[in-house]
Amino acid sequence: MRILISNDDGYSAPGIRALAQAMKRFGDVTVVAPEFNQSGASNSLTLTRPLMVQQVEDRVYAVNGTPSDSVHLALTGLLDELPDLVVSGINCGQNMGEDTMYSGTVAAAIEGYFFGIDAIAFSQIERGWAHLDCAAKVAQLVVERFLENKAKRREAQLLNVNIPNLPFEQLQGIVATRLGRRHHAESVIREMSPRGFPIYWVGAAGQPKDCGEGTDFWAVRSLAVSVTPLRVDLTDYSSVSAVESWLAK
Ligand code: MN
Repeated sequence: MRILISNDDGYSAPGIRALAQAMKRFGDVTVVAPEFNQSGASNSLTLTRPLMVQQVEDRVYAVNGTPSDSVHLALTGLLDELPDLVVSGINCGQNMGEDTMYSGTVAAAIEGYFFGIDAIAFSQIERGWAHLDCAAKVAQLVVERFLENKAKRREAQLLNVNIPNLPFEQLQGIVATRLGRRHHAESVIREMSPRGFPIYWVGAAGQPKDCGEGTDFWAVRSLAVSVTPLRVDLTDYSSVSAVESWLAK
């Protein structure tokens, strides 16, 4: 079994190192990940300049691009053979609700999924890498169960996993969830540059709004690991006929 690992925090982040180590029990692991932190890069591809790949150690490659660039490159030319699984993370910080749209961690997994490959994104809720060893153990457990059930699935699956930063024995299980929703993001932060013009920092994500039972927010609030199956078809099927009817007038 071949496993491709990527992330958005950069190839040298503690999270991807722990994940690569944890995945070795399942097969051959190759890391292709951004050279530097690309958190919030979403699914962007670099189209205005060439990309360079640096082999930093055996089976570890750093790309001067985004998470999507990294996985895209790996799948379309860098690797001799396609992987059976793409695993992304372990991210420093949660990716729940609308975060999944901005996340480079999820994007790296989506890129694998676009190529028809099973893909899983892992994130730790709190920043700072506390209990990273436990998160790696959770990743092993989730991948093990995912692989055990592979024969029952006809198509590739995309999973988004969020792990509370807790000792393993304090986790309250692993539950299947749907994405919740957040309130609008906090205001942009305006400062004055030393040269006297205004500069802006994107503000914090909004607080959870749709966070009831069954959501990713609810799971981690209950100290459980959240596993959300994702799809990437953004079509609002319930509105297609309504749009069709006003277009016809
Ligand atoms: Mn990140």
